[in-house]
Amino acid sequence: MRIWNKRNVINSLITVIILVALYIISLNNYLLFHTSAEIFSICIAVTIFLIVINSQEFIDNNFLIIIGIAYLFIGFLDLLHALSYVGMNIFTDYDYYANQLWIATRFMESITLVIAFIFMNYKRKLNTNLIFITYFIATIAIVLSIFYWKIFPICFIVGEGQTKFKIISEYIISFILLISLTLSYINRKRFDKTLYKYVVFSIIFTIFSELAFTFYISNYGLLNILGHFFKILSFYLIYKAIIEKAIKEPQKAIFTELQNQVNTDGLTSLFNHRYLYDQLEAEITYTFQTKKTFSIIIFDIDHFKKVNDRYGHVIGDKVLLSVGTIITKLTRSIDTVGRYGGEEFMVILPNTGIENCYHIAEKIRIEIEKTDFCQKGINITVSAGIAQFDNPSIGEKYERISILANDFVNIADVNLYNAKSNGRNMTIGLK
Ligand code: GH3
Ligand code: MG
Ligand code: MG
Repeated sequence: MRIWNKRNVINSLITVIILVALYIISLNNYLLFHTSAEIFSICIAVTIFLIVINSQEFIDNNFLIIIGIAYLFIGFLDLLHALSYVGMNIFTDYDYYANQLWIATRFMESITLVIAFIFMNYKRKLNTNLIFITYFIATIAIVLSIFYWKIFPICFIVGEGQTKFKIISEYIISFILLISLTLSYINRKRFDKTLYKYVVFSIIFTIFSELAFTFYISNYGLLNILGHFFKILSFYLIYKAIIEKAIKEPQKAIFTELQNQVNTDGLTSLFNHRYLYDQLEAEITYTFQTKKTFSIIIFDIDHFKKVNDRYGHVIGDKVLLSVGTIITKLTRSIDTVGRYGGEEFMVILPNTGIENCYHIAEKIRIEIEKTDFCQKGINITVSAGIAQFDNPSIGEKYERISILANDFVNIADVNLYNAKSNGRNMTIGLK
């Protein structure tokens, strides 16, 4: 995956424009800046939650489930933080609830990361309701201890600035974040690369944000602005990680599954008739471009009706499955093996001339002849028709690829017919 594809460039541009706009706002009206910055990260937090909760059945990763649920409560506490910021005049009895909420929320965020890494290695999927209730209770406890019981330590004193408690807390939070960074490193093999990158940078930006808030003096300075920028970035990166895992990957998995169903045969799991033709056309096109050649084999089981009549269809099916396995085993991984029809199989052999093709067909024919199927003493033979694709000479106006593919298969088919009429259990087509 290229990092600088068009969409990523546009996304980055939008992010930069938002950050620049926020910076310009901060120069003119700090309260507006703060409220916008917080609302922006709250929106991201709520989005993270909504995505995770709606795609939890696809997410087999406890890490993302915990993060997803936690961010709803982190977002809620951040909303209270924004509403109680100096100058909002919503909570009039004390001006610095916002600083307490900030510290409480950052504790929640950093501890969440550590817990998420710990439970990442837990094999069973965690109960989402239980996680939700835990965070709900923790959030209520935080809100009550700040607004109602008033037991949460004071974080800001007018004239003195930040209290020791707040500064020490920011250091402790940074330390917890460093622990989570270490845990992310220890667990890096369990993450896919993209997800790992997003999570690590998110934690790093959260640490930057914490440090910026530790060193700031007033609630307005440049470091405070930077702190909020880093926070937005860290939220955004978690959002990107969730999008990758919860939306894009399951879609990819579903798409691959559908694609497999469309292309494969239900009984043998080999490629089906449709896919064989797609592959033939691709191979013909490739041959035009490279002047290389390729060959095909069509196998047809001899007197297969008798197998069905004697042993029944269920055993007949098992024989078909085993024949498919034998053919697959005796061909290369670049060859395409498919079920062409009922008891007919086709092999497409790229970059292979007719002599080699003949040898492979014979090897398979002899192996099938020798095999005792289903441990019931069932012996069968196959007939094979082979053909090598001849490049139409240059200048000759060739028809549509699909017609060429049909004509080519016909050559192998005629050879197969000749093998049948000459006594079966043989390969025909070597010039
Ligand atoms: P030959 O090719 O040597 O001329 O004789 P045959 O008896 O193999 O030829 P025919 O084409 O007349 O019959 C093919 C048989 O293959 C008919 C059908 O009963 C059987 N068959 C086709 N598909 C399946 C399948 O999916 N499962 C089973 N059990 N039998 C199948
Ligand atoms: Mg047949
Ligand atoms: Mg047959």
